[in-house]
Amino acid sequence: MEIALVTGDITRRNVQAVVNAANSSLLGGGGVDGAIHRAAGPELLEACRKLREETYPGGLPVGEAVATEGFGLPARWVIHTVGPNARAGQTDPELLRAAFANSLQTAVSLGASSVAFPAISAGVYGWDARDVAEIGLRTVREHPGNGIETVEFVLFSDPVAQVFRTVLADLDSRD
Ligand code: ADP
Repeated sequence: MEIALVTGDITRRNVQAVVNAANSSLLGGGGVDGAIHRAAGPELLEACRKLREETYPGGLPVGEAVATEGFGLPARWVIHTVGPNARAGQTDPELLRAAFANSLQTAVSLGASSVAFPAISAGVYGWDARDVAEIGLRTVREHPGNGIETVEFVLFSDPVAQVFRTVLADLDSRD
């Protein structure tokens, strides 16, 4: 499984599945969630509403993941996950690990060969980008590929991309 670090907008990536840093409501929000909903179009919100009503009436729990179609996105699927919110006291690394791991597992179940992740929880949810990079990169490196050929981390800003490059180089040097 190849890991690629990309600077840019995740909604433009030509991958089979993009991961959305959603919130428990599944009804959209700001940041990458808002960007994905704008790019995918109103059918995505409809699909999320349906999931919320039929499967997650109490909201999608932190660390879990669920897929919808990608609708107007180049990606065939969106995998919605909820990262922990450090500003609400959710600072357990296991919760962030679960968000990455369950998203990957969902991608495997879909048969996706390429997946793009944003820096889950590194925005409004207040996690340090270095912690997100360490947990995200470690989780992906340790996950059995199962048909996934490429995992991209799509970082919206240069400083965050630089943090991911440094952490990946550190992990590689320890192998
Ligand atoms: P969270 O609530 O999980 O912290 P945010 O969307 O606030 O989620 O931020 C997560 C990361 O996604 C941040 O680093 C933010 O800069 C980044 N981001 C925002 N928009 C996009 C986008 N279009 N593509 C990729 N990353 C994005």
